[in-house]
Amino acid sequence: NELAIGIDIGGTKIAAGLVDAEGRVVEEVRRATPGHDARAVERTVAALVAELGAQAPGAAVGVGAAGWMDLSGSTVLFSPHLAWRNEPLRARLEEMVGRRVLLCNDADAAGWAEYRYGAAAGESHAVVLTLGTGIGGAMVTDGVLQRGRFGVAGEFGHQTLVHEGHRCACGNRGCWEQYASGNALGREGRGLLAAGSPVAHALRDAAGGNADAVTGELVTRLAASGDAACRDLLVDAGHWLGIGIANLAAVLDPGIVVIGGGLGSAAPLLIDTAADTYRRTLSGRSYRPFARVVRAALGPAAGLIGAADLARRAPAED
Ligand code: BGC
Ligand code: ZN
Repeated sequence: NELAIGIDIGGTKIAAGLVDAEGRVVEEVRRATPGHDARAVERTVAALVAELGAQAPGAAVGVGAAGWMDLSGSTVLFSPHLAWRNEPLRARLEEMVGRRVLLCNDADAAGWAEYRYGAAAGESHAVVLTLGTGIGGAMVTDGVLQRGRFGVAGEFGHQTLVHEGHRCACGNRGCWEQYASGNALGREGRGLLAAGSPVAHALRDAAGGNADAVTGELVTRLAASGDAACRDLLVDAGHWLGIGIANLAAVLDPGIVVIGGGLGSAAPLLIDTAADTYRRTLSGRSYRPFARVVRAALGPAAGLIGAADLARRAPAED
């Protein structure tokens, strides 16, 4: 059972694991993403590969990163949440770890894993969304991960949903991920505190009175324990999620939309709301089939599982 190393570099966390050919994670290690220091991120990845690689000397290495990869998988063109700009990341990592490295987008990796082993298994037209720092997207059609002409297909999080809306890390305004990601939830939670709203009592206490301590994760946790204000925030985000999904369905006509990522995996209320709004928003909804909108099956490890599998399948060079 051939082991491969998968690494998922997100805006806040780097997750790495040894994964077998059935998609099972044999061992997993996590680190915080070292902020906007590209070199430090690369050193962390190299250290993780060395650590896991000691147990699996010949293992293939796949790295999914929250960025826009060129079609050949050698260069990170741009990343809204990380420091790379036109960065020859693959060559850099290969030199550091002394092995071949497959490089891909983090959401493409997660989407591929859900298709291979998870909620989208057996589907001919799957869209997978990852909700975390931002919104990532992947499309698998008839068993093929769709990369577009230049490698950057599926950047659904940066469709403009609100004219002149919230500023996005990509530089534009009103992007979808400003309304339905973990970051968006955190921002809305901080807004409630800043407004001195009495509905935000529990949130304020949980954050120790410090608005800066309010994150999407905290809002999600309080919502799960029944706090009404945090549940409302999740429902708001779920509405936006559903509207974006209806847009995607108008263009792509998927059979299934899988929602994962740290936030997606932790918030059933968000997914139920999104599914509902999608069904009320889809154009021509009385006269066409709906896609199933479901929670991801693999949880937050999907990215590293998919990166490992893509690396295992990559054709050997030389
Ligand atoms: C980035 C994507 C990434 C997603 C999830 C988005 O902001 O543009 O490349 O997949 O966040 O990390
Ligand atoms: Zn954007």
